[in-house]
Amino acid sequence: MSTNNEKISIANIEVDVVRKDIKNMHLAVYPPTGRIRLSAPNKTDADVVRLFAISKLGWIKKHVKNFQNQPRETEREFVSGESHYVQGKRYLLEVVEASGHPRVYFSGTKKLIMQIRPQTDRATRARIMREWYRKQLKAEIPLLLAKWEKRMGVTANDWGVKRMRTKWGACNIDDKRIWLNLELAKKPRIHLEYIIVHELVHLLERHHNDRFVAYMDEFMPKWRLYREGLNGLPVGI
Ligand SMILES: [Zn+2]
Repeated sequence: MSTNNEKISIANIEVDVVRKDIKNMHLAVYPPTGRIRLSAPNKTDADVVRLFAISKLGWIKKHVKNFQNQPRETEREFVSGESHYVQGKRYLLEVVEASGHPRVYFSGTKKLIMQIRPQTDRATRARIMREWYRKQLKAEIPLLLAKWEKRMGVTANDWGVKRMRTKWGACNIDDKRIWLNLELAKKPRIHLEYIIVHELVHLLERHHNDRFVAYMDEFMPKWRLYREGLNGLPVGI
């Protein structure tokens, strides 16, 4: 097996070639930068690999562009002075060490306090924050859901919040269950409402077709604006 790091450049896009004991070539795109990797069988000729990459140029360009368009959340350390967003509003984090159960709470209109035990590591801080966001979001959803169900004349049987890498929401149409991305806790409330409306429309129309768009226009005329606001996919996970 070759230990060389093969690289090819197609239309100014760099592609890493990784040789493996496999039968077919395949492409993949990797976060956080959208690096393109082409896995190729050990014995495949370099020219053949190159031709394969060229034949997939459309795919490569599309994925590179997707990554470039995604606003990525900067890596958080959960230390004092960091900015954190709640319902679209920026708060300054203040970390306070104390024994006792960890908690997160607002202080005034600009501060978010995270009380943790001494020597709490980053992963635990992240989890404490995530669970707090989950609680915030879960407290918001029932009223908004009820409001839109009434307006739209539909009812979801169940709803939930989860971490999703590529979607803001999801709808299991057969079970009438709606899923909302935990990241929505950080976004302005209208964006959460937009996703709720979108998922509820799926109870009226399964596909993203003209009929679906007509429902969106009817229930939430400015939905395109809110979609714009969400701008790409949530990859802050
Ligand atoms: Zn949809």
